[in-house]
Amino acid sequence: MSVPNGPTRTQTILDNMVGVGDCVLLDPVTEDAFVDNLLLRFRAKDVYTYIGNVVVSVNPYQSLPLYGDKKIDEYRGRNLYELPPHIYAISDDAYRSMRDKNRDQCIIITGESGAGKTEASKIVMQYVAAVSGKGKDIDEVKEQLLQSNPVLEAFGNAKTLRNDNSSRFGKYMDMEFDFKGDPVGGVITNYLLEKSRVIDQSPKERNFHMFYQLLSGAPSLLLEELMLDRDAEKYNFLNQSGCINVDTIDDKKDFAVTQKAMQVLGFSDEEILGIYKLLAAILKLGNIQFECYTEKSGMEAVKILQEKEMIEICDLLDCEPNDILQSLTKRSMMGGKGDKVVTSLDPSHAVYGRNAVCKAIYARLFEWIIKTINESIRVKAKTKRKVMGVLDIYGFEIFQNNSFEQFIINYCNEKLQQIFIELTLKEEQDEYVQEGIEWTHIEYFNNAVICDLIEKNNKGILAMLDDECLRPGTVTDITFLNKLNSSPFIANQKFYESRTKMKSDKSILHHCFRVKHYAGDVTYNVNGFIDKNNDLLFRDLSQAMYKCDHLLLKLLFPEGNPEQYSKKRPPTAGYQFKNSIAELMKNLLAKNPNYIRCIKPNDFKKPDTYDETIIRHQVRYLGLMENVRVRRAGYAFRQPYELCLQRYKMLCPRTWPNWNGTLKNGVTEILIHNRIPTAEFSFGRTKIFIRSPRTLFDLEEWRRRK
Ligand code: ADP
Ligand code: MG
Repeated sequence: MSVPNGPTRTQTILDNMVGVGDCVLLDPVTEDAFVDNLLLRFRAKDVYTYIGNVVVSVNPYQSLPLYGDKKIDEYRGRNLYELPPHIYAISDDAYRSMRDKNRDQCIIITGESGAGKTEASKIVMQYVAAVSGKGKDIDEVKEQLLQSNPVLEAFGNAKTLRNDNSSRFGKYMDMEFDFKGDPVGGVITNYLLEKSRVIDQSPKERNFHMFYQLLSGAPSLLLEELMLDRDAEKYNFLNQSGCINVDTIDDKKDFAVTQKAMQVLGFSDEEILGIYKLLAAILKLGNIQFECYTEKSGMEAVKILQEKEMIEICDLLDCEPNDILQSLTKRSMMGGKGDKVVTSLDPSHAVYGRNAVCKAIYARLFEWIIKTINESIRVKAKTKRKVMGVLDIYGFEIFQNNSFEQFIINYCNEKLQQIFIELTLKEEQDEYVQEGIEWTHIEYFNNAVICDLIEKNNKGILAMLDDECLRPGTVTDITFLNKLNSSPFIANQKFYESRTKMKSDKSILHHCFRVKHYAGDVTYNVNGFIDKNNDLLFRDLSQAMYKCDHLLLKLLFPEGNPEQYSKKRPPTAGYQFKNSIAELMKNLLAKNPNYIRCIKPNDFKKPDTYDETIIRHQVRYLGLMENVRVRRAGYAFRQPYELCLQRYKMLCPRTWPNWNGTLKNGVTEILIHNRIPTAEFSFGRTKIFIRSPRTLFDLEEWRRRK
């Protein structure tokens, strides 16, 4: 249907589009046609395509002239279907819907590692910052919201095989606005950082960016103060994986960016130096080695080989050398009569303790940084706020060796897929049934069973892991694995495979179980599951940290305060993660969702290159075809009669200014008067359903011209 006054500029733009911009218009609706269309557009450097109001984004791996102020101006205030598909368009739609209709929004960005989620989240934030209000205070808030990104990326991202800037933590950020739609602040929630990376990385991967930034970017005087060598090869935590420099990363430049961002966010010079000192201490601790010797008493003990480094660590952490030394080499326990029994560690336990404390310092520092950012972006006034959340979480991962971290990351992705299914496939179809609209059900794979397999209370894999962690007696990763394999709830599931079922594979699978995730089969090695889930730190170490005079350590290790000594076990990592994800789901479900589904075109991080097989695989597991089918068979738009009548009654002389009949008849009058074909709409019990987005766009356009 055309707009009454002839073609608009918009239509000409859309007519020149390569392929179809909205896959709902595909003919035929097949996976081949869908993938062909994506590829056609990808080759023409149109990386965005819609499925209704879902944006599918294919990572271009090159900078395209799709962004910036001029483009932002083009999209500002326009309707979704007026211009070629873009993240800007759904950001605009979400922003206006929040501002004008008071509906809190969330933007859910999903896709596997390297697919472009983090970039997409920044594009959303930049757009919203550009189109929302102006003024000195407002600009300051925007600047702070935007500057949180480089800081979080420096400390929370790392180079992996999949992505040179891979997020190793999950992030959900609420941007908050006042009634006018001006930004007033925000809150960042983070999800489990992959802290094992601090002490160990897979070949060709790196530690967190910030370590390299500090070594390459810090002025010499600062390095001297930190007693650091500029050469990253000198540090065990950086030199074991065979990767220090990355072509696509300029650590020196990034250091300046991170430092500037920390200043904008209100970190004091003293705090920034305090952060660097902790990083330096971690690097130095990594170089500490332990050796056995026999004490005068004849007892076996361990000593530290690098005395100079040890003294420097104490200097950095501001503590008595003896305290740290003791905590790294000995372990004290309360005897039966409340007396303290001190035993010597062997070198392997000493290394274990050293690593644990390094991971703890880093992960807690990261949490503290986020807390500090939150304090600075927190909304100060107590007025009612409107919210737009952006979720950018680590993507689905399959590595050669998959451990607890991958299990947690992939579980999280199952939950996000579940939300997508609930809202776009299930709820939409359920609504047609409820409203009495004629509807043929479209089949889709519901991954709820896989979520259950992992998280079901008392029965799922996480519950088994917790059970095992809390069980008295000898507990190992293998006893945990045996428990999984002998649990009927788990072992009988179609989506779980024990080693015996993995026939084709060889002996390395001794310590493995496999989950058939929605996005692919992942074989997990149970090595380290118990330890990582327990996440315990020897008490001597937390107490030693608490005793340091470094300005942050007391805050980071409150449990080290002997007066606060508690026998209570801290909750396990899995338990905490499950709860925080449940909280996140609740939060997302309370908002109006907008989706960006990111697709990775090739495994080589290369521009203008695609592998059709891997694209097809992603299209399949993301459920995009089902999404198209539901959308196409369905209605792009639905609205309660009352709201529809209110909004469009000006388009019909019989309903304007007042309509006295039933709401449904009023809406009918409007549609008939404007010659909307009857095939375009259906009457539900409480809502009007309109098929094509174009019709809605026309109604809006006519309304605007009145
Ligand atoms: P994810 O967060 O999904 O793991 P990223 O957003 O970090 O992936 O993207 C990985 C890399 O791909 C980026 O560092 C960048 O080089 C490239 N990239 C992603 N999106 C875009 C884009 N829209 N334009 C140009 N390059 C992009
Ligand atoms: Mg990312």
